[in-house]
Amino acid sequence: MLKDIAYSNLQDTVSDVLLCHRSILDILTKTQECNARLNRSITKAVTSCGCIKINACKKEIPCEASLADLKDILDSHIKGTMCPACREVVETEVGKTLFYLAALCNILDVDLLDVIIKEQKQLQTLGVYNLA
Ligand SMILES: [Zn+2]
Repeated sequence: MLKDIAYSNLQDTVSDVLLCHRSILDILTKTQECNARLNRSITKAVTSCGCIKINACKKEIPCEASLADLKDILDSHIKGTMCPACREVVETEVGKTLFYLAALCNILDVDLLDVIIKEQKQLQTLGVYNLA
């Protein structure tokens, strides 16, 4: 499958191009930095651009609700849709986050595609009972 090849290629490409931050300490801190920048890009979509809003409050869950019902009862608290400019920034930050995740997998000899497949199988097995 083309997407499978993309994950494998990403990990190989990251291995080829990562020069300056090959230390586990650099990769760990760059991963945290990327996560912070991703969070900031989403926050700026709310506070600077305003294309999306966050409207959060405690959700009351009916006693008779099943786990399957929670998907319809609980929401993301996001209202609106990101504009193209904010989407571009968020996608860039997601890409950088993936880059350092692939770098982390490389340095620890973990196959990112194997992890994705394993996680997918676990989610399919547990369904809504994974409680994620
Ligand atoms: Zn925007």
